[in-house]
Amino acid sequence: MTKHPKYGSKEPRIIPRAKHNVTRAEFSRSALKVLYRLHEAGYQAFLVGGCVRDAMLELHPKDFDVATDATPEEVRALFGNCRLIGRRFRLAHVRFGREIIEVATFRAAAIGEHDDHHSDEEGRIIRDNVYGTIDEDVWRRDFTCNALYYNIADFSIWDYTGGFEDIKAKRIVLIGDPGKRMREDPVRMLRAIRFAAKLGFEIDDAVIGAIDRHAGLLPNVPAARLFEEFLKLFQAGKAERTFDLLRDHGLFREMFPATDEELGKDAGFMRFTRAALRNTDRRIRQGKSVTPMFLLGVFLWQPIRKLAAIRRSGEKMSESQSLALAAYEIVAGQQRRISIPKRFTVPMREMLSLQPRFEFKRGKRAMKLLDHRRFRAAYDFMVLLADVGLASKETAGFWTDVQTQSAAERAKSFEIGQPRGTGQRRRPRRRRRRKPARKP
Ligand code: ATP
Ligand code: MG
Repeated sequence: MTKHPKYGSKEPRIIPRAKHNVTRAEFSRSALKVLYRLHEAGYQAFLVGGCVRDAMLELHPKDFDVATDATPEEVRALFGNCRLIGRRFRLAHVRFGREIIEVATFRAAAIGEHDDHHSDEEGRIIRDNVYGTIDEDVWRRDFTCNALYYNIADFSIWDYTGGFEDIKAKRIVLIGDPGKRMREDPVRMLRAIRFAAKLGFEIDDAVIGAIDRHAGLLPNVPAARLFEEFLKLFQAGKAERTFDLLRDHGLFREMFPATDEELGKDAGFMRFTRAALRNTDRRIRQGKSVTPMFLLGVFLWQPIRKLAAIRRSGEKMSESQSLALAAYEIVAGQQRRISIPKRFTVPMREMLSLQPRFEFKRGKRAMKLLDHRRFRAAYDFMVLLADVGLASKETAGFWTDVQTQSAAERAKSFEIGQPRGTGQRRRPRRRRRRKPARKP
């Protein structure tokens, strides 16, 4: 029987424990428990993918994927805390408190996934799910750095694709024919960028070539999956680097067409976007929370602002109203590429339409902005605009100061309860034409 000779060697290179740096201390106790129990029951049990790669790089992996020759049902029989998920490909989730260890049975590439696939006498077809052996499982993985298997039986690493050397050389290399693998699943283009940014790896020329040729396939990916990828791309602490790589290779344009167009036209918007990306990275470094709606708001700000100006011209509506209206339209267009859940679009729209209200600094209504549930995000957004010269520094300073003032100081700042004519601009008084006195 021949096995994808095109994709590499059939026999793994086995790197014994003494020849690699992967220690069990890099793996969670739960992951080790799962491995040991499978092993004791007589099954093969490996850690695979990102966790082996990250352990080699001493990056303290947080999620663990186990690969085994036990079927999902056999896995479930071993663990009380186990649930089977997935219709097409059944996976076992073994739960330990909040941690979930994903256990997958070795699979051969689905029929049709590689046109040189020979269906295998060991592989069983269950729905369209083909169970296989480890030396089949490896070829459906994306990059060589994601295709190392750590064997709990003797702590060795099994390498079929050259991933061990590629990690040491910091290279992102696709398994198999790059063009074909990108066409099979265009998300792999984003994954190449993500790993390059996260790990500081160089992307192999053949992979770059395939991305440059196939970037236009990205819109074929379901919008919900692209949202998941968007989160991973921009919330991993390397958002700015990721942004540059995505733009360099024509992928950002496919994800955020309206944003990309404005970035090309407007240096100020580019400065603002970069400031936001750096800010996101800094917050993650400091262990602070980040919400995707903030960055989405930044990306869509310029398209929304421009459309708002158009919608407002000749209409009787406030700037805030026009921003809210334009946000609906722009977000609807964006959803065709990346489906953003309502729990992010609603606060995002609020954050953006509050922007004009920072200009009003007098009176009770102006002060009430401090109590708005979206004040914090809107304020951060405005400060960032001010940082890059797109909002008034004085306004930003005002709203920074009033947050820490006492009630009395604050009332003074907003000129509440003060006599008129103390220097502040008066609202022009509406003149009412007096009716001519009627003659009796
Ligand atoms: P991280 O967890 O840091 O995002 P990872 O490499 O663990 O990185 P996962 O999405 O958790 O990525 O996937 C686990 C493994 O499954 C990968 O290492 C890879 O071997 C395989 N894999 C995931 N997505 C794909 C894909 N789109 N095509 C081929 N193989 C994939
Ligand atoms: Mg992972």
